[in-house]
Formats: sequence, C-alpha cells, structure tokens
Amino acid sequence: MSPSSSQLRMPRLDGAGVDEHLRLAALQSYDILDTPREEAFDRIVRLIRNVFDVPIAFISMIAADRQWAKACIGLPDPNLDRKVTFCRMVLASGQPVVIEDLSQAEDWKNSPFVTGPAHMRFYAGVPLRTMDGFVLGTLCAIDKKPRSFTEANLDVLTDLAAIVMHELELRRTAEVDVLTKVLTRRAFTVQARQVLALMDRQDRFSSVIMLDIDRFKAVNDTHGHATGDLVLSEVARICQTQLRSTDLVGRLGGEEFVVLLPGTGAKDAVRIAEKIRKAIAAAAIDVGSTSLAVTSSFGIATVDAKTSELNALLGLADAGLYMAKSRGRDRVVALQAEMQAERQTEG
Ligand code: GH3
Ligand code: MG
Ligand code: MG
Repeated sequence: MSPSSSQLRMPRLDGAGVDEHLRLAALQSYDILDTPREEAFDRIVRLIRNVFDVPIAFISMIAADRQWAKACIGLPDPNLDRKVTFCRMVLASGQPVVIEDLSQAEDWKNSPFVTGPAHMRFYAGVPLRTMDGFVLGTLCAIDKKPRSFTEANLDVLTDLAAIVMHELELRRTAEVDVLTKVLTRRAFTVQARQVLALMDRQDRFSSVIMLDIDRFKAVNDTHGHATGDLVLSEVARICQTQLRSTDLVGRLGGEEFVVLLPGTGAKDAVRIAEKIRKAIAAAAIDVGSTSLAVTSSFGIATVDAKTSELNALLGLADAGLYMAKSRGRDRVVALQAEMQAERQTEG
C-alpha cells in the first residue's frame, strides 16, 4: 500500500521541539552549512532525479531560521525560509512524508510553491537522522505533477538518505581534505590548539598565516569547477613545498587556507608568507589544455600578550587578509607589525 497524503498529514508543523537547541548543536557539529558543492552529494540528487524521474531533488539542512540545500537540482536558490518549506513536516514528525497531490492537501494547497510558477504537486521527503536521533534535514523529491509513490520507492529514498548520512559522518571524521590533501578545518583546529599550548609552555611564539586565492570565482566561471578544483589542490601543494614538516596546513573552507608556524615569530612568518606568495604567483598551473596563473592574499598573526588563543589569532590573520584584499591583492599584511611600527613613529 502506498502511503497517502491523508495518512501522513502531520499534526503539528512548528518543528521546534524542546530539544531544538540540541538538534541545532548536532547540525553545527557537522560543519556543513554554506559549504561548497561536493560531488558525493551532487551524485545522490542526480540519482533521485534519474530513479524517480522528478525535476526537483535536494538534500536539505534545516537550520534555526532557514533551510539550506547542500545539493539541489531544479531549485534556483539553496536558501529558503524554514517556515514555508514542505521539509519542516519531516522535521516535525521525524518520519518520511509523502504528499501525492499538494493541491489537494489542506495544509499546502495555498502554498506559493503550489499556486505559484514553481507549480509543485508532489512531495516525498525522508529525514536525515543522526545516530543520536537528531533530524538534520531531509532528502527529498518533488514533482510538478501529482503522482503515486510506493513503499518500494520510499525504501529507495530512505536508503539514499542513509548514504547521505554516511557521507556526512565521513566528512566529519575526516582529518584530511579529500581534494587538497591538507588538514580539514576541524582537524587543523584540534591540532593547532595542541601545538599552541605546547609552544606556550616553552615560552615560544607561534604565527598563523591565512591565505585566500585572488579572484578565484573567475577561475571557476571561466574554466569550470573541475579546473578550479585542480587549481585549489595545486595551490595547497605549492604551499606545502615552502613549509617545514612541523608546520600545520589546513583548508578553512572554499579557497582559503591556513598555516600554523610553531615557534616562528612575526618577522619570519612574513618572510615565509612572502615565499609562498611568490611561489604561487610564479607557478604556471597545468590544467590540461592550458596553464593558469593565480595570485593570493595573506594575513598574518603572531602570538603576543593580547593574542594567544587560536580563534583570536585566526581573527587577526583574517583582518590582515581582508586588508591585503582591499589594498589590491597579491600581498601579505601583518597588522601587529604595522601597529607596532606606527607606535614607534609616533613615539
Ligand atoms: P577574492 O579575491 O576577493 O577572494 O575573490 P574570489 O573570487 O576568490 O572570492 P569569492 O569568495 O567571491 O569566491 C570564492 C569562490 O570559490 C566561490 C566558490 O564557488 C569557489 N569555491 C569554493 N570552494 C570550491 C571548491 O571546492 N572547488 C571549486 N572549484 N571552487 C570552489
Ligand atoms: Mg578568494
Ligand atoms: Mg574566500
């Protein structure tokens, strides 16, 4: 028997139970919101489209006030107001939801997604549930015409949801970023804190270099995402050739990397950042048919009396990086050194 809309109509749609803050903390721990597209997740929505022959499929993450899609087909914007989405039924019930004809469903027939140009008629969504039982979001299929959905169909969607959760778990426990082979942000954070504590006990200064590839969006736009990926892994490789084996390199996200130089003061950190900057700018990155040149901008922070905690260092390095961008890119900015120089000229 196929689950009908009346059977699965949900009693309450607020979705915010008493454990909502715990659920949001669980979602946070996956560090997934607003991350770039990833093939492993794109593949799953393509599978849904092909298997069920639907025009719309997505993997949603339900945050405090919005629903965000990690992967989607047939939707223009990955962000939606959480209050208006079908997926909140799945969150509220913790169960799969199938509505064979939204235009006949009391709760949905007046939804702009149904009455408007999107013309949605069919919805099937299953929860993405953690091992602790928290629903992070949904995996769903939407059609523009009413249709039926068998138990077997629902089983397939549920199996795909399990694959999504498996990917999310792998991602969470991964120490090394698959694309660039440097530490993931999470692994970098854990290891950098340990190293900073160790250096601190020995009264040695350490520095952080943050770098971001310049105008990287244009690389993707002009040459495609796959070429962008090649450039990213090459930049990460070049960075590592300029560093010692005790330095930590991590990918903070997108095209932004971070380096921890244990026991390295501000002057040497600037020198090393300049070395990396020149090496990246000088490289002709082989991307198959042609080769590309990119530059990057750098911010530097060094442990001092005011700045010793990792987040404080990252914040300061990020401010330097921002300054490097606004001064024209392809440069290194160490704000502490600049402030010190200012004090000296004043004094
Ligand atoms: P800026 O000089 O100010 O840094 O400009 P930008 O274009 O580099 O900065 P912006 O943040 O606008 O663009 C970053 C781009 O990086 C957008 C995003 O699509 C792309 N990106 C992020 N992660 C990946 C990835 O894993 N692979 C590829 N190919 N592109 C990615
Ligand atoms: Mg950039
Ligand atoms: Mg960036």
